[in-house]
This record gives sequence, C-alpha cells and structure tokens, in this order.
Amino acid sequence: MHILMVLLLVGMIPTLIITAGLVNAYRSRANSTKLSEVQRYGSFIVNRFLPTGALMNADDTAVNDELSLMASIYEGRILVVNEDLNVVRDTYGQELGKTLIAQNVVKCLKNGKETYINRYERYTEIMMPITSTDSESTEGVLVITFSTNAILGMEQLLRQKALLYGIIIAIAVVGFAIVYSKKVTNPLNSMAKTIDHLTEGYLNEEVSFKGYREIGRISDSFNRLIGRIRALENSRQEFVSNVSHELKTPITSMKVLADSLLTQENVPNEMYREFLSDINDEVERENKIINDLLSLVKLDKSASDLHVEELNVNELLEGILKRLQPIAQKRNIELIFESFRPVSAEVDEVKMSLAISNLIENAVKYNVDDGWVKVSLNADHKYFYIKVSDSGIGIPEEAQEHIFDRFYRVDKARTRETGGTGLGLSITKNVVMLHKGAIKVYSRENEGTTFTVRIPLSYIP
Ligand code: ADP
Repeated sequence: MHILMVLLLVGMIPTLIITAGLVNAYRSRANSTKLSEVQRYGSFIVNRFLPTGALMNADDTAVNDELSLMASIYEGRILVVNEDLNVVRDTYGQELGKTLIAQNVVKCLKNGKETYINRYERYTEIMMPITSTDSESTEGVLVITFSTNAILGMEQLLRQKALLYGIIIAIAVVGFAIVYSKKVTNPLNSMAKTIDHLTEGYLNEEVSFKGYREIGRISDSFNRLIGRIRALENSRQEFVSNVSHELKTPITSMKVLADSLLTQENVPNEMYREFLSDINDEVERENKIINDLLSLVKLDKSASDLHVEELNVNELLEGILKRLQPIAQKRNIELIFESFRPVSAEVDEVKMSLAISNLIENAVKYNVDDGWVKVSLNADHKYFYIKVSDSGIGIPEEAQEHIFDRFYRVDKARTRETGGTGLGLSITKNVVMLHKGAIKVYSRENEGTTFTVRIPLSYIP
C-alpha cells in the first residue's frame, strides 16, 4: 500500500507540474508576441500619417480606413486622443468628440515617450504617445484595444488536452503502480510466510524466494543462515548425545564391577580390593570428564569472562614444563624448552596455561618411551608463536581434521588407558579462538606430531 502511494505521487506530480508549466509558457509567449506585433503596427501608422498631419485631422478618411483595417485584423478598437484629451478618431465611431480621461492616457501625454499597457482578462489596452518627429512635443495618444480571446481559447484547448493526457497518464501510472507494487510486495510476503514456517521448526527445508535479483540474493543468504543454524543444532545434539554416552560409560563399568561382586558368594578379599580399585579408577575418570566439560562450558559462554593481563610467556611455559616433568620422567621422555626471545603478551593466564598444558600433556601421552617433546617460543611485532613437537605415535591423516572436535579420539581403546576424554584439544582450540589466535597441526603417523599456536601480543577484544 505504502509503495503504491509513493509510486502514484512520483508518477503524477511531474505530470501536473509539466502541464501547468507548458500552459503558462504558451500564454505568456503568445501574449508578448501579439503585443509587440500590435505595437509595431501602431508605430507604423503613427510614422506614416503624422508628418502630413492626417492623423489628428478628423476629416481625413484615408486614415480611418487604415485604422479600421488594423482594428479588424486584431479584433479591436482604435482611438486617437489629442492634447486636450478629446477623441479625434474612433473606429467604433461612438466616442468621437468626447473627452477621454484615463490615468494612463494622461500619463502618456505628459511623458510623451513611454507606452502604457493595461491587461484585462479578455483584452489588452496599449497607449502609445503620438510624437512629432521634428519637435519634441506630444500631439496625442493612440489607444489600441485588442482582444486576447484567441489566446484564451487556445489556452483552454491546451488545458483540456493536458487534462486528457494527464488522465491517461494517471491511469497508466495507477496500473503500473498496482502491478509493480504487487511485484515488490508479493515476494516479501511469501518470504515472511516461509520464515514463519521455518520458525515453527521445519529447519530442514531449503527456501527459495522468487522475485527480482535482490530477493534471490536474500534467499541465498537466508539458506546460508539456515545451514549455519542447522549445523549448530546438529552439533548441539551430537554434543548432548556424546556427553551422555561418555558419562554413562564409567557408570556402566562400575555397575558391572559391583554386580559381579554382589552376585558371587565368598568373594576373596583380594578380588574385592581389585574390583574396588577398578571402581575407583572409573570414579576418577568420571570426575575428569565432568571437570573437562565444565571448563568447556565456561569457555563457550563468552569472551567477557576473559581475565586478560600482561604476562611473561617464557615463565608461563617454564612453569607448565616443570609441572609435567614427573609424568614425562616416568616414561623417560625428554622435555626440551627452546626460547628465542623473552615474550610478554596480554593473555588470560589460567586459560592459556590450560590450553598449552593440554598440548604438552598430549605430546607426552601419545609419545613412545624414551622419546622427546620440544616446546619452542618465538615472537614478531604482532604475534607470539608456540610450537609443541613430539616424537610420538602421530595422528593419521584422515583423523587430523577431527581432533579438535569434542570427544573425538583417534584410538578409543588406547585413550581409555591413558585417561583421555577427547575434550582436551577442543578446550585448547576454544582458548586460542578467544584470544583471536590460530592453531594448526602437522603430523605423520609413527614419526611425531607438531602443534603450532599463534596468539596476538596485544589482546584484540
Ligand atoms: P584426549 O583427552 O583423548 O587426549 P584430546 O582432545 O586432547 O583428547 O585429543 C584428541 C585426540 O587426538 C586424542 O585422543 C589423540 O588420539 C589425538 N592426539 C592429540 N594429541 C596428539 C599427539 N601429540 N600425538 C598423537 N595423537 C594426538
């Protein structure tokens, strides 16, 4: 409706303005042309008859004929008034001998040079001074009245025609406006309907809005948005089912262990101890999963809980390595720290420490006995770089793109022994993302793995 009104106004206003402008231009042009024509004719007559004195001499009939001719050409009347304001000639013959007192006639006599014009609706009056060529004196006034009826008539005709065309244009514009506004609003309405449909939960449908090019573009963008929502929804569902599965596994084990103790009679003490110690391991595992999940959920919330402060990264890495030294030593794995320069950066100490610990812990966990883990730190003017390489078992090519997924583990059986939850790398990746950094993995099976992390030196909110 709104669009319809706008189109109507846009279509009609110029038409009206152009019509009014054209009619006015015609009128003023026609009037001025006729006026100057009459004036020229008047001057011609004055110049022709004045020198002989015939103009002011009422008895000279040759002049009368000339004046009558001119009066009939211009559908008007011509008077000649002398110095005493007496009418000497009148093509109508009615005013002869009478005195004509009109303001402009008097002025014209006095000034002697200027021509005066009175405009009325249907006629125009011109008062021209009759001045002798030799002397400067004004002998009288030539009063020419001519009709402007023809111009008025023409103007009316033009107006009627303009009105007619205006109506035709208006009908065309209205028609066009209705069709066009339908064309604009129909796709929008159908878009709104489709979106409502999607909102009701039919997320699996592709949408396709038909209409002009922009609408097509919106439908592309919209499909991308739906795709993103769908992906989020899928990952949420997957996450929930993974979480319940992971949490259930230790509980199932504990149940099996407890059941087998309960159903047997006269269980030896050692067996109790062994099973209880297994149950204890499962409790620990359950605890670890819950803790990792809690860290992940906290990281997911938002970057606003990031406690960023200027930190010495060298000290941070040295601290982590010192803490992990005992675990590495158990399997005779060598921890090497290589620092190219002192680095201080704006990071969240607790989260960054968790992220890097996960990487180094993995490098130890998935290593071979007597292997090595090398951690190096470098920086340029914008970023600092941490590289964690190991001599471990490596990650198969096809698994590399999944290792940052939550609960993803390359070898489920082996990681159960090492106590992995499959959440470590997704926590690390989340932390790196919160710091607007990047993380990459390079690995060859049975040769080793390298993780590189790049973090901006100053925090980017
Ligand atoms: P987990 O708790 O199982 O270690 P992560 O998310 O930390 O979970 O790692 C996911 C998987 O990626 C691991 O299960 C492991 O298979 C693989 N992985 C991670 N780091 C390494 C590494 N340094 N060398 C070999 N495999 C690795």
